[in-house]
Amino acid sequence: MAFHEKEYIIAYKSLKDGDYEYSWSLDKSFTDHFDSTEIMDISVEVDVHLIKSSRLLQFLFKVSGNITFECDRCLDFVSLPVELENEMIFKIEGKENNFEEEILYLSEEESIINMAPFIYENIIFSFPIKRVHGTDKKGKSLCNKDMIKKLETLLVKDEKPVDERWNDLNKLLNN
Ligand SMILES: [Zn+2]
Repeated sequence: MAFHEKEYIIAYKSLKDGDYEYSWSLDKSFTDHFDSTEIMDISVEVDVHLIKSSRLLQFLFKVSGNITFECDRCLDFVSLPVELENEMIFKIEGKENNFEEEILYLSEEESIINMAPFIYENIIFSFPIKRVHGTDKKGKSLCNKDMIKKLETLLVKDEKPVDERWNDLNKLLNN
């Protein structure tokens, strides 16, 4: 799938007041469009429920699927489930954007909205706090052991200059 912006455009001005459903199946072409460096791979469904009234667009976002990150511990790829529900409100009036109350303003001259940046924002909101491999049934970490060993030796090497600096500081303090 390639990224086509027109697939994410909602021409809200031509919609009657009421409820509308949208859904997008997203793969890596979507997040690559936003130059994401954290997402190694992605397969998510984004469902949006729009409640349209004359002066207000209320969007309820649901994100669910899987995102592949680099593991924080072993740097191997780890695919993690993501789940998010979030609301965004747009007021239609001739006001400047103001970020109080998390309401965005659309000018009266506007008639369409490009959902792609808002979908991307909600994908980022759905990121898990910890991006690490889980454990097997016996509680053993599923991280790449060889990588962890390599990283540990690198860390030991990195620590040496720090130790020398401490030594210098100790010399100063002891004099
Ligand atoms: Zn890991």
